[in-house]
Amino acid sequence: MINKFIVSGYVFFAGTIPVLSQKISVDNLRSHITCLSSDSMEGRGTATKGEQMAAQYIQKNFHEMKLMPKGKNNSYLYDFTFKKNPNPHDTSTVDIPVRKGINVIGFLDNKSEYTVVIGGHYDHLGKGGDGGGSLEANSEGMIHNGADDNASGTAGVLELARYFTANNRTEKFNFLFICFSGEELGLYGSKKFCDSPTVDLKTINYMVNMDMIGRLSDSTHKVVVYGVGTSTDMIPLLDKIPSDLKIIKDSSGIGPSDQTSFYLKDIPVLHFFTGQHKDYHKPSDDADKINYDGEKKILEYIVQFIEETEKLPKMKFTPTRSKQEDTPRFKVTLGIMPDYTFEGKGVRVDGVTKGKPASNAGIEKEDIIIQLGEKKTENMMDYMKALAGFAAGDSAEAVVMRKGQEVKLRVKF
Ligand SMILES: [Zn+2]
Repeated sequence: MINKFIVSGYVFFAGTIPVLSQKISVDNLRSHITCLSSDSMEGRGTATKGEQMAAQYIQKNFHEMKLMPKGKNNSYLYDFTFKKNPNPHDTSTVDIPVRKGINVIGFLDNKSEYTVVIGGHYDHLGKGGDGGGSLEANSEGMIHNGADDNASGTAGVLELARYFTANNRTEKFNFLFICFSGEELGLYGSKKFCDSPTVDLKTINYMVNMDMIGRLSDSTHKVVVYGVGTSTDMIPLLDKIPSDLKIIKDSSGIGPSDQTSFYLKDIPVLHFFTGQHKDYHKPSDDADKINYDGEKKILEYIVQFIEETEKLPKMKFTPTRSKQEDTPRFKVTLGIMPDYTFEGKGVRVDGVTKGKPASNAGIEKEDIIIQLGEKKTENMMDYMKALAGFAAGDSAEAVVMRKGQEVKLRVKF
């Protein structure tokens, strides 16, 4: 049996010549996630002290890796201002105070013509409230630690940055590592960066986003990858990579995370996601529930993907659906947590929020919504489009499959 010690990424085999082998380190992932999701970071709410502490932590790591600062004014920090109406049903920003969030950005210059962006948001819901989308009833004042959402993706950015900087082989591309803020309040950080970037967007080959990669199921190994339709190169590349992960592909470039901002600038994107769970957007999303070995597997998969793209020319962007129809505007919510990993027809409900229309109508966890009003809801996109057609006060029939039986329920928005 080989006796081996892993010290920050270097593997030493006792009894043989030390082998320098650059590896994704579970210990690093654990220490980043534990720190970022500790109570001292107060849930990393955008424009709070907790956010600033987390930004300092990320900046310190980028500095130790000797990444080049690519924020504003020769620093790693990219501050931005925004206005957010706390009432989600009112988009007016008159009389709403200006707030300031911070992205943290480091650059690995490999003297290449093209750059790969590796990103993930580090902000979360703080102490609830703030229109930030807590799903826990009466949770205002409780720290939402956000270990999976998205200390997991932030740790992914930091660990991939360490991997690529410590790697002594010549990489074909430059890397831009970005930890975004303002994501939970509406993708503000990534939007602001894409509107006023610190690298020329034309030189970006593609963007990899990691948002919630900490809950890989050891039984299903399912990972949802969004954006596979944003370049014709994506699917053949993903299919080529040997892995015991079960990759579920979704073509859309538009999704509920920061890759959307890059997609809207005609940049090919991928978003890795291990799926919804009962702690989603609740104070119980904690570090002890993270599957660290699972996250390591996902990062290794991403490394292999990036290495495969080095054999190809710059990716060509392909739009996935018309931008207009891809971004439905919602005036109402149903109050369910959809199961994004569900592969059957319909939208499977992973959880319902008490007091919201779905729960009032009697929709239950594990129901599969197959129709909403006039519209069949075979997938998430159908569901979002159907939902976009309702206004507050409307009522509609929902058809759900429950234990193999069709059940009709009346939903009042
Ligand atoms: Zn979130």
